Amino acid sequence: MSEPSIFTRILNGEIPGDILAENDRVFAIRDIDPQAPLHALVIPKTEQYRDVTELAAGDPGLMADMVAVAKQIATEHANGEYRLIFNNGASAAQSVFHVHAHVLGNIEEGKLVG
Ligand code: ADP
Repeated sequence: MSEPSIFTRILNGEIPGDILAENDRVFAIRDIDPQAPLHALVIPKTEQYRDVTELAAGDPGLMADMVAVAKQIATEHANGEYRLIFNNGASAAQSVFHVHAHVLGNIEEGKLVG
């Protein structure tokens, strides 16, 4: 079996992390290298899916659960509006192959990239 991902290790308390939300299937942490005033990662507890393509095909309900947690975080830590980003593949800047969504909020006007 492969090593647990860095996100699983945070969930298990093996390495420190700022957990913002958790339910039975999904958790969210603050990104260690924030690209916006609110930058969280929403992550399924299972490591079964490498990226959102696999997740959407394998368990669309779990993807919906992730979006609900993204909205919850944006409501608690921003004005309820948020940018949701999935990087898919190394050449698209994905570095952790345990599917996760970047939730960006409180983005300053004119600072939106992409
Ligand atoms: P990228 O590193 O290019 O953003 P990903 O889309 O795979 O690639 O995102 C991984 C994210 O995990 C990065 O935004 C990174 O800052 C974040 N990260 C890495 N290690 C930690 C950690 N220990 N705690 C919180 N966030 C982390």
